[in-house]
Amino acid sequence: MSDHVLVINAGSSSLKYSLIDAASGEAAASGVVERIGEPEGHHVHHGTDGESNTSLKIASHEDALRAALKAFETHGPSLDDIEIAAVGHRVVHGGSQFADPALIDDDLVAAVNDLVPLAPLHNPANLEGIQVARRLFPDLQQVAVFDTAFHQTLAPHAYTYAVPLDWRDDHGIRRYGFHGTSHAFVAAEAARLLGQEPADLNLIVLHLGNGCSAAAVRGGQSVDTSMGMTPLEGLVMGTRSGDLDPAIHAHLVRELGWTVEEIDHALNYESGLKALAGGNDFRELSISREAGDARAQLAFEIYCYRIKKYVGAYYAVLGNVDAIVFTAGVGQHSADVRAASLAGLERLGIQLDAERNNTSSGEARTVSADDSAVAVLVVPTNEEWQIAREALSLVRLAEA
Ligand code: ADP
Repeated sequence: MSDHVLVINAGSSSLKYSLIDAASGEAAASGVVERIGEPEGHHVHHGTDGESNTSLKIASHEDALRAALKAFETHGPSLDDIEIAAVGHRVVHGGSQFADPALIDDDLVAAVNDLVPLAPLHNPANLEGIQVARRLFPDLQQVAVFDTAFHQTLAPHAYTYAVPLDWRDDHGIRRYGFHGTSHAFVAAEAARLLGQEPADLNLIVLHLGNGCSAAAVRGGQSVDTSMGMTPLEGLVMGTRSGDLDPAIHAHLVRELGWTVEEIDHALNYESGLKALAGGNDFRELSISREAGDARAQLAFEIYCYRIKKYVGAYYAVLGNVDAIVFTAGVGQHSADVRAASLAGLERLGIQLDAERNNTSSGEARTVSADDSAVAVLVVPTNEEWQIAREALSLVRLAEA
């Protein structure tokens, strides 16, 4: 019986896919179709032949998935040889309904559609990916894996905003948290690296990619996280502001006559590192900083200062911390971010080892000193593998 899951992550103008062996995590193939709907789209497929690149107009998500299937035929691996056991879809917002992955049927589609008002920038594209895959793979079981699900264990005092009752009761306004698939994967890997059971550990997980979020994880369960009702809250990100005074919104409307759409766009796509340093790519920011660019330096300091504040907050929330875990592009690769974010926290038992921290590696590893009371770990995330595992286990359960 095949353990291969086709994992689909549909964005508004892109479709990423990977064919993952859920048992080993090995990707038999992966690819991304970008600039869907634009005059010229781009498709990269990593298959049996290595990397293949194609530029062509791709009108819709359906065309994107068809292009992916064609690439499997042309560049391998053949889907006749590697049977797909299930399709796993990343869905950003599962609201309060979904604490676990769910089999996709018409009711699930309707439920995800009902959540669009909470995630207008994400859920419509995720739904499009689901609809297309259901059309092209009518005989396969499909599973939705929600970014919010892992954080459904937050207690009411952690997820409730201090706002009027009807906002909360009638409009779903509360914190949900995101990046849950990554936080779950990384927390489990950290426990493995430490040789302990997840149930016995208190962790602060820092997912620092284009989007950034922190999570406080007690005994394998999320007890707090920095993203809120939407992925905008919390840490400074590539293009998102993270925390800010909500009155700024009213100020922009009142004083500058901005529309809601303009403000939403600016805070989600024109803020964060992009606004502070002129670009959202952390590698470029690091190069500018090393060249003495003052804007890049300030952006770096703001970014790390915000991380430090969340580390302090979640230390207090957890009371006792066994490990701080860095993951995603910046977390895995920037020794400077790890060092600056944790500098001065020695009294909290947090002590990096400079040499370990500065050594690059693609492996999960410890970067704290031997006598650090709190371990500091770098753990590569693998959201696709986590989605594949969760999707396959649900499908197997349903078949049993
Ligand atoms: P996504 O949220 O899109 O999955 P990633 O986890 O791939 O994001 O992280 C992307 C970020 O990681 C980018 O800002 C990128 O510049 C940064 N990054 C990747 N490699 C490095 C590196 N070697 N040093 C510093 N930053 C890096």
